[in-house]
This record gives sequence, structure tokens and C-alpha cells, in this order.
Amino acid sequence: MDFKQYVADVPDFPEEGILFRDITPLMSNGPAFHAAIDEIVAFAREKEVDVVVGPEARGFIVGCPVAYELDKGFVPARKKGKLPREIESIDYGLEYGHSTLQIHKDAIKPGDKVLIVDDLLATGGTIEACVSLVKQLGGDVVGAAFIIELDEFAARDKIADTEIFSLMHY
Ligand code: 5GP
Repeated sequence: MDFKQYVADVPDFPEEGILFRDITPLMSNGPAFHAAIDEIVAFAREKEVDVVVGPEARGFIVGCPVAYELDKGFVPARKKGKLPREIESIDYGLEYGHSTLQIHKDAIKPGDKVLIVDDLLATGGTIEACVSLVKQLGGDVVGAAFIIELDEFAARDKIADTEIFSLMHY
């Protein structure tokens, strides 16, 4: 399937000079979204994943159907102040700005094989933060999967230990 036909290129969003890759057309097309999720699930099956972690907010949209299909749990990595119980926390840099991600401490058990899923890999700041959070809780990151990877940022170099699957490259 030509997945790129379902990505809208939006110049100067959310700031001037940034070309935003909008995946909402992919999400709103049932067969295309299903096919995209199936490809990530196929990658995940090779890794014998115990749990799927996805960062807020688009990581939820991609990670939840992957976890559902694998019959595994989904763990949200949320922005600051959203989770009600004891949390592990990390600050990280973004393509534009910076942020904090938090995860419930009891959501990952030591030795859990964790797949991290997000919509898009740019500088790698978000995924690097997720990897650190999972490791702090004793989890074993067995892979990371994305709908889109922006090759210009060479984010793979930042998390060289983590096997990465990306459905599309720009
Ligand atoms: P990174 O931390 O790798 O620099 O940026 C990736 C994060 O920012 C992802 O969580 C993603 O949702 C968001 N992001 C950055 N640029 C884009 C973009 O062009 N399109 C979309 N859909 N998300 C983006």
C-alpha cells in the first residue's frame, strides 16, 4: 500500500519553517489505518512483546490498537500532572520546545519486554525519554515503532541500542 498518499504535508506548522507531517488522513481511512497498524503488529510479534508504551498524545492513537491486536497491555507515557498515582518522570527536548513525560511506576515490571510506539520519529527526544523511563523501571526495550521517521534528524543514532521499525521515511 502507498501509505504516503494518506499523509498531508503542512508547511509552517506549528511554527514557521517546520513542515508538519499530518497523519490524520491515514487515521481516518479505515483500511489504510488497519494496514498501517498490521505492519507494526508484525514487527512486534517478532519481539515477543509483554507491554506497549506510547507517549501522549498521538502515541496513544497508534499504540492502543497495536496492544489490542497483540492481546497485551498499553501503558501511557503522559505529560506532566496527568497521572494520578506514583510516577517516574523525565524532562526532554523536542523538535520545537521541551516537555516532561511521566509513567506510572507500577506499569512496567522488571524484565518486561517493552515496545514503544509513536506516530513520528523526528529528533528522537521523545523516544529517548520513553526508553529512559522504561529502563528506570527495569523494563527491557525490545523495539520502537513509528508511522513516520524523518531521516534528516538521524534519531536512530541517539537510541542505537533500540531496534526501530518505521512504516514511512521522509
Ligand atoms: P521528536 O521528539 O522525535 O523530535 O518528535 C517526535 C514527537 O513530536 C512525536 O511525539 C510526534 O507526535 C511529534 N511530532 C514532531 N513533528 C511532527 C510532525 O511533523 N508530524 C506529527 N504528526 N508529529 C510530529
